[in-house]
Amino acid sequence: MADAVATGRDLELDVERVRADFPPLGEEVRPGVPLRYFDSAATALKPRSVIEAVRACMAEYPANVHRGLHVLSERATEAFENARIKVARHLGVDDPAQVIFTRGTTEAINLAARSWGRHAFRPGDAIVLSELEHHANIVPWQMIARETGAELRYVELTDDLEYDLDSFDRLFDDGRVRMVATTGMSNVTGIRPPVEEIARRARERGARVLIDAAQSLAHERLDVVALDVDFAAFSAHKVFGPTGVGVLYGKREHLEAMEPVLGGGNMVLRVERETAVWNELPDKFEAGTPPIAEVIGLGAAIDYLEALDAEAVARHERALIDHAHEVLGAVEGLRILGPAATAGKGPIVGFTLDGTHPHDLSHLLDRSGIAIRAGHHCAMPLHTRLGIPASARASFALYNTADEIDQLAAALGSIKSLLR
Ligand code: PLP
Repeated sequence: MADAVATGRDLELDVERVRADFPPLGEEVRPGVPLRYFDSAATALKPRSVIEAVRACMAEYPANVHRGLHVLSERATEAFENARIKVARHLGVDDPAQVIFTRGTTEAINLAARSWGRHAFRPGDAIVLSELEHHANIVPWQMIARETGAELRYVELTDDLEYDLDSFDRLFDDGRVRMVATTGMSNVTGIRPPVEEIARRARERGARVLIDAAQSLAHERLDVVALDVDFAAFSAHKVFGPTGVGVLYGKREHLEAMEPVLGGGNMVLRVERETAVWNELPDKFEAGTPPIAEVIGLGAAIDYLEALDAEAVARHERALIDHAHEVLGAVEGLRILGPAATAGKGPIVGFTLDGTHPHDLSHLLDRSGIAIRAGHHCAMPLHTRLGIPASARASFALYNTADEIDQLAAALGSIKSLLR
């Protein structure tokens, strides 16, 4: 079942072998038109091992978890709970009960904001976000702020759209900050906020920290214990796993103190006519039948990530982003959003092309089998800061090549001359 992805310690990533793991990369999107996939930040392609894990669950043990005492249910439960153990280990966590399965990053942040925030925030308390955030790490905080009388404060960005630590420091002047929620990587520009420093400074001032790892986890390890963060959230589908499942990691003390948001089966130990007693962690937060095959697929995605030589992947992705800045930056009228330098950036390029709307660009590229994304990318405050309603985005993963990026640059150049 394991894919042919392992590379030797000193070898570069064997991209052709990696590509063979992802079925759509061998397909034509239209007759004679191969796929060039630059939309991994929206959702990553899935390797064969993940597809096989989901298939095996559905075909061989399509039973409910936790409830049955028959063999299929036992197999499903074991595979399901194994996935939790794999996720915990991947995040540097000893106790799998601190891994709560949700529908994705969005639901995970909503759970933290609503459940932790409801008992933690008092009127006048502050929640620190940044202008880089995805709506999933803004709107849940707005909702709980409205409910509790807390307020939102935004870290400003530098002229290069980097996270400004001076601006961050100023937000703590009155000692009212209770929570700092930050993305690990901007889904528009690829910029990585300095999460270690953010976590350290927040902790020193008594604030809690949540990392939105939706974008970063596909590209770098996150050790939530070493980083000493309170919460972290991610989605399986952005780390080569299925849609419909994600994770909220939380420190035990918070998870114990938090009230569940959803009530129903599995999250209770005892139910009487008027009251109920909550189950232990993690079940307390997992009401109802979970996305079983998807969780098992997430476990396979974690196996896939861990079988890779992380350093070789990082080197490959670094080469891709350097190359993308060079060749895309040379297209006439193309403006890359964010810093010219690629140091510290993830493999995402947000850009505009003079005289073309990003949506038109995306449609035109699609004719050549090139998949990019266009719009505000659920990051309206960042686009407001940039003074543009929308942008185009090319995002890369371990299966992309410099050659494909050359084809993207050439296609953009042709579109530009066509529209001149
Ligand atoms: N946070 C970031 C940085 C994202 O890029 C995304 C999705 O694009 C999300 C959160 C939300 O993820 P999901 O839609 O999987 O819940």
